Amino acid sequence: MQKKYLIYISLVLLSVSCVNTGKKSKNISSEKPYVVMLSMDGFRWDYPEKVNSPNLDYMEKIGVRADASIPCFPSKTFPNHYSMATGLYPDNHGIVQNRFYAPDIDKYYSISNAEAVTDPEFYFGEPIWVTAEKQGVKSASYFWVGSEAPHDSIFPSYHYAYNESVPFEDRIDGVIEWLNLPEDKRPHLIMWYIQEPDSKGHKFGPDHHEVFSMIEYLDSLVGVFNHKISELSISDQINVIITSDHGMGQISEEKTIYLYDLINKEWCEHIDGGNPVYAIEAKDEYYDTIFNILSNTQHVSTWKKDEVPERLHYGASNRIKDFVVVADSSWCLHKSTKKKAYSGGAHGYDNRNIDMHAIFYAYGPAFKIGYKHASINNIDIYPLICEILGIKPVDVDGELENTIEMLK
Ligand code: AMP
Ligand code: ZN
Ligand code: ZN
Repeated sequence: MQKKYLIYISLVLLSVSCVNTGKKSKNISSEKPYVVMLSMDGFRWDYPEKVNSPNLDYMEKIGVRADASIPCFPSKTFPNHYSMATGLYPDNHGIVQNRFYAPDIDKYYSISNAEAVTDPEFYFGEPIWVTAEKQGVKSASYFWVGSEAPHDSIFPSYHYAYNESVPFEDRIDGVIEWLNLPEDKRPHLIMWYIQEPDSKGHKFGPDHHEVFSMIEYLDSLVGVFNHKISELSISDQINVIITSDHGMGQISEEKTIYLYDLINKEWCEHIDGGNPVYAIEAKDEYYDTIFNILSNTQHVSTWKKDEVPERLHYGASNRIKDFVVVADSSWCLHKSTKKKAYSGGAHGYDNRNIDMHAIFYAYGPAFKIGYKHASINNIDIYPLICEILGIKPVDVDGELENTIEMLK
């Protein structure tokens, strides 16, 4: 792995100087734009400040960097990738957790269950690739959450079944291949995904050298990707966005609470979610008992579903259960019956916790150059992409007004 890092780092230095230098023949600017958006899972907003990241730094110079992209609550992978895709809060797009019971269809959703992930009944809202396809704009997804399920019987023109073992380098090549297709087959919207640095962040915590090495490696991949984009004949029409679904917070063994030390599993109909955030449906006779216990427990916040603070936009969906309970920053709330020592990193916390915030970078013909933007909400990305592609958005929670200043 280390050797690979070195090869990439040297390639990067090469590539940095080649992005958007305009050396190749220019396309006519009236031609239709492209948007290529990458999400690197769990890429905390301040990781680039912690390590050498010349390629992200370069993107900041030639484009836009927002202070952060703020995730929706809960700051978990599936709710947030689908919020970026639809411009909707999880309350409105239906993917309210990574794991939940959906009473409206009497089915269980889990990110590790391929049958559930590909079942269109779980997904509400219109993902941006469907908005694009409906308006004659071809789209492609390399592992974006939700793209394996059809919406109104529509898939992206190109998509793959999720397989985390596909090397990141192959994903880059796959995206570039799409951009090299003949014009009538070429997608103008591409969404792709890398599951790091989330895994390393969970294992080691956000301030560990293993995470820093991964950030350096990912930054070098960004360099390779940008270089390959710059070599395409259509490069002047391509807008690149690099963002993430959430950040990562440090946890520690001493700050662990076990849910079943507090309440009895038998008192509950359903316990959705995972550390550090759950939604619990109580059996009627235990409703008050569970609420009294959890609301008097230190280091967690517990709300009845209709009393969740408005700023979290969480509780209107019938998929959210009686009580929402989330551990305080740096605390763990586990429902495992095995009391092992938990350390490393976690996310899922209140999105007011800055450690949950993610990166946002963008460059290309639509974006201002060297422009620093305030933090955005990730639901605002859908209208932003619609604007760049010149397609009409459906009604969503996000607003173009919140990101329009990034655009030329
Ligand atoms: P989280 O539990 O919120 O940290 O979720 C991160 C995990 O989601 C990673 O381990 C990914 O492998 C997994 N993941 C991301 N996208 C998909 C997908 N489209 N299908 C299945 N699993 C995914
Ligand atoms: Zn994630
Ligand atoms: Zn994670």
